[in-house]
Amino acid sequence: MKYATLGKTGLKAAVVSFGGIPIQRADAANTVAVVDKLEEYGMNYIDTARGYTVSEEYLGAALEGRRDKFILATKAMSRDYAGMCKDIETSLKNLRTDYIDVYQIHNLPEKDIEKVFGPGGAYEALVEAKAAGKIGHIGITCHSADAMKILVEQYADRFETIMFPYNIVEDQGREILAQAREKGIGTIAMKPMAGGNLDDWNLALRYIAASGVIDISIPGMGSVEEVIRNAEAAEGFSPLTEEELERCQAIRKELGTQFCRRCGYCAPCSTGIDIPSTFTLANYARKYGLGDWARARYEAMQYHAGSCVQCGACERRCPYNLPIRDMLAGVAQVFGY
Ligand code: SF4
Ligand code: SF4
Repeated sequence: MKYATLGKTGLKAAVVSFGGIPIQRADAANTVAVVDKLEEYGMNYIDTARGYTVSEEYLGAALEGRRDKFILATKAMSRDYAGMCKDIETSLKNLRTDYIDVYQIHNLPEKDIEKVFGPGGAYEALVEAKAAGKIGHIGITCHSADAMKILVEQYADRFETIMFPYNIVEDQGREILAQAREKGIGTIAMKPMAGGNLDDWNLALRYIAASGVIDISIPGMGSVEEVIRNAEAAEGFSPLTEEELERCQAIRKELGTQFCRRCGYCAPCSTGIDIPSTFTLANYARKYGLGDWARARYEAMQYHAGSCVQCGACERRCPYNLPIRDMLAGVAQVFGY
C-alpha cells in the first residue's frame, strides 16, 4: 500500500482508504471482518460520520484493542457550539476511544460558513476539543465548489483537511483542491465511484491517484470483498494510457452532470420515496439490460416515483441541486408508475 502525507496534519494515510457509509448495511460481525482486512492491507485511514446511523458504533466495536493502528476520522452536521460539543462526545463514546484524529464539519454549504466560524459556532467547539486533546485535527467536508473556494481562500488557517467529491465525472474542484494543497490542507476524495455510477474500480481509483490534487480517496466499503477489490486496485497504480483517458471521456459524456451520488441528504421524502434507490433501479433497467431484475425490486418498494407530490423538499436538501422531481418523472416513465 502507498501512503500520502495528509497536508499539515502530518498524518501518513493509505492513498486508498476506508469510507464508512456502506458499513451501515453490514452488521457488527461483518464490520470486524472488514476492519481485519483493512488492517491486513494497511488501509489505515477510517472515515465515518455521526450521520451514518450505526457506522460509528460498529466501527468502535471492531476497533477495540487496535484503535492505535488506524487514523480515525468522523464528522458531524452541527453548526453551533453546543451541538458540536455534544456530537464530539457522542462520537468518542460510539467509537470507544478518547481521541479522534480528524473531526470534520460535515457537508458545509456556503450559507453556513459564517455561522460555523462565527461566535457560538461549531468551530469553537472543535478548537476547544483540540486543546483538550479529544481531537487531533479539524477538517471540513463539502459538496459545492463555491463553498470550498471561500473556505480555502478565506479560512485556510482554521482547518487542516478538506473532503470533496472527485472522480472521473466530477473534477469541478480541481483548481481549488490544488490551491488547498499549496496551503498545506490535506485533500480527501469522497465519492470516488461517483456514488456507485462507475463500475471500473481500477480505472476510477487510478484516475484520482493521477490527478495530482488528491492525497487520499475513501471509497465506501461494506464488505471484505470490497476491501480486497480496492486494495488490489491500489497496488497496481500506474499512469492512465491514452485509451483509458478516452474511456474516461466517454464515461463523462454518458453520465453528464445530473446523476444521483446516493449521498442520501435528500431524505426524508415527504411521501416516503427512497429517492436514490429508485434512481439506481431505473439505471439498472435503462443501462445494464436488467429490466426484469430492476422491475421486481421496484415493485417491492413501498413507495414509487409516481407518488411524488412535488413538494420540492428533497431538492432543497440535495447538495448537487439535482432536479429530483423531473428525474423521478423519468423513473416513473421507465417503470410505468
Ligand atoms: S418533491 Fe417528491 S420526492 Fe421530493 S420530498 Fe417531495 S414528495 Fe418526496
Ligand atoms: S438525489 Fe441528491 S441528495 Fe439525494 S441521494 Fe441523490 S445526490 Fe444525494
